[in-house]
Amino acid sequence: MHITGVRIFDPEPGHNECLLAYASMEISRMFIVKDLKVIRARDGRMFVDFPSVPTSVRCTNCDKKTDYTARYCPRCGILMPVTPLGSDGEAIKEVHHNLAHPTNERGRQIVHNSVMTEFRRYKSSQQEGGDKWE
Ligand SMILES: [Zn+2]
Repeated sequence: MHITGVRIFDPEPGHNECLLAYASMEISRMFIVKDLKVIRARDGRMFVDFPSVPTSVRCTNCDKKTDYTARYCPRCGILMPVTPLGSDGEAIKEVHHNLAHPTNERGRQIVHNSVMTEFRRYKSSQQEGGDKWE
């Protein structure tokens, strides 16, 4: 796999603080993958998250995993929330399905290294321009 380009984008204002940036990458000047995310975990470790879509949500009442589009829980029958929020206001734990991802550790490392190198270059150029980066 030959990554021929990576572009970094700032997240929208008000984003989750764990989301540091979006990225897109070009493979062999033939294929583009968008919606990669640079994430900082609670322990400070940074990683690249691959594009995904939610496929299911968990019922807030009985915790049954249910299709993302379901209006009613198939186990307990409660109306599933239109906006998937839990009782504490946090998003209900969703199950995601990756749209694109490496098939092995070597591929994962190549993507991680390429995106993180460009992310650091991008952030350092922002610093030179006067923007803050922590
Ligand atoms: Zn339920």
